[in-house]
Amino acid sequence: MERERLEFDVVFVGAGPAGLAGAIRLKQLAAERGREIEVCVIDKAPALGAHSLSGAVVDPRALAELLPDYRERGCPIEEEGLRDAVFYLTAAKALRLPWVPPFLHNEGAFVGSLSKLCAWLGAIAEEAGVNVFPGFAGVEALFDDAGGRVLGVRTGDKGVDKQGRRKGNFEPGVDLLAKVTVFAEGPRGSLLREAAKRLGLFDGRMPQVFETAVKEVIELPEASPFLTAPEAVIHTFGFPLGLHTKGGGFLYRMAERRVALGLVVGLDYADPMLEPYREFLRFKRHPLVAGLIAGGRVLQQGAKTLPVGGWYSMPRLCADGALVIGDSACTLNARRLKGVHTAMKSGMLAAETIAEALAAGDTGASALEGYRRRLEESWLGEELRQARNFSQALSRPPASRVVHLGAQMLSRGRGLVDPMPLHEDCSTLRPGVFREPAPVADLDGTLYLDKLTGVYLSGTRHEEDQPCHLHIPHPELCTTRCWQEYRSPCTRFCPGQVYEIETAEGGRPRLKLNPSNCLHCKTCEIKDPLRNILWNCPEGGGGPNWTIL
Ligand SMILES: Cc1cc2nc3c(=O)[nH]c(=O)nc-3n(C[C@H](O)[C@H](O)[C@H](O)COP(=O)(O)OP(=O)(O)OC[C@H]3O[C@@H](n4cnc5c(N)ncnc54)[C@H](O)[C@@H]3O)c2cc1C
Repeated sequence: MERERLEFDVVFVGAGPAGLAGAIRLKQLAAERGREIEVCVIDKAPALGAHSLSGAVVDPRALAELLPDYRERGCPIEEEGLRDAVFYLTAAKALRLPWVPPFLHNEGAFVGSLSKLCAWLGAIAEEAGVNVFPGFAGVEALFDDAGGRVLGVRTGDKGVDKQGRRKGNFEPGVDLLAKVTVFAEGPRGSLLREAAKRLGLFDGRMPQVFETAVKEVIELPEASPFLTAPEAVIHTFGFPLGLHTKGGGFLYRMAERRVALGLVVGLDYADPMLEPYREFLRFKRHPLVAGLIAGGRVLQQGAKTLPVGGWYSMPRLCADGALVIGDSACTLNARRLKGVHTAMKSGMLAAETIAEALAAGDTGASALEGYRRRLEESWLGEELRQARNFSQALSRPPASRVVHLGAQMLSRGRGLVDPMPLHEDCSTLRPGVFREPAPVADLDGTLYLDKLTGVYLSGTRHEEDQPCHLHIPHPELCTTRCWQEYRSPCTRFCPGQVYEIETAEGGRPRLKLNPSNCLHCKTCEIKDPLRNILWNCPEGGGGPNWTIL
């Protein structure tokens, strides 16, 4: 098939904060040096920001470096002058901690919506001359004949039916060729997954580990106490997950009587019956939370994973003609619950390295190696080093967790064991333990939603007649081993009800897939105990359509 080929100096795959900050920085450097640099950014989302979901309490450090006049340029800030509160929740009570650990302080930060922030950054990138193409999924990294140099990325074909046949509206994907390709796909990039195997980017590193989150933006009634509470940022731990499962809740006050509410669950949990969505509903029913959101109405819902492995899980960051940035490179600081400013900074440091490499006419791995050095020497490296064993410590039993965290605070992150080991999330489920799931109270369709109403409120739409983007290499295992040992946990850890087990003739279980419900969180690929699910990008432009998450 003849494919269109477009040539650029640099292609960014992913228009999140990392990719957009990197693209803007490259254009700034090009202008400073009086040199043309052709930059392209693609994203699978239907519109800029539509696949962006975050808390989001944003540390403006990287933003202020990139765009010192970000306020004047209309950066979408929801709430500032933040004060924090941290609560330990039991099933019925909320105990406020007398002090907030220093790394959770948010003075100087602002509450934003990542969807809005990315749409705004995208407009600035376009103004600077970046070619920004939403609606295009990168489905294959292109390599030279020897297979060691990345030459660019192929976008997905559009207009292909379930059987893989061309429909009347068929459009072949485009080959975007670049001197440097930057992987900025966020957590668990599907393109990076395949390219990394070829380039050995994750070899010898600690495993990639994740948390998953369900988040809503809720509109509150005018009399809601949270609208006038002194603390705009609340974090919780304890109920509903208990102390043996990593994770916690958040409530952030936004503009226009809105609140961002979410529950984050560490994906190294052991109980196969645990259902993050159900835990989220139980969190909302806790007296503290229920009181703060009473009378509210959910406007949007979504789900996404966060890479929390940090420093020791970072892949090799460069290869011939390629770099990895942002969540794809594990730049999220799990200790501070923040990844926006770190993703942006990594994109900016990558841009500085690329500009130098382009000027020297050498974009090989050793020329791009400067990115790693820059990162290590910057405030980003310092932040990530201090958090390097944090998530590992949280995975320990409660008593030793406190000891490890205390030791890390006293030793700038080193702690008692450095590095602390990590275990892949797919390996932590305990087989054969099937406790009854905790009950959730009535769902009213307004403030307390079932999964499908949540999917509806995420604006998720996919072309129905397209090849299934979830690849299950051994479907027979789903209804045999996975059912017998774990009772098909995909039906629970997926927040979009993509996976269902039906009873087929003869009473045998049968897996039913609803890929159109997919929220692109990728929890399934990460947590599946048999590693039997591969998440690939569906047709570009499909998926959630978040505007305020
Ligand atoms: C619930 C939750 C709460 C959070 N709270 C905070 C917070 O309060 N403060 C904070 O600073 N951080 C927070 N974070 C973390 C923060 O959102 C991320 O660290 C940050 O968004 C990472 O930016 P990124 O650009 O690397 O990746 P993303 O923001 O994930 O962007 C990646 C982009 O790449 C696109 N993409 C992926 N694959 C492809 C492909 N193959 N082809 C084309 N496009 C592709 C995606 O559609 C997406 O737009 C939170 C995260 C979550 C999930």
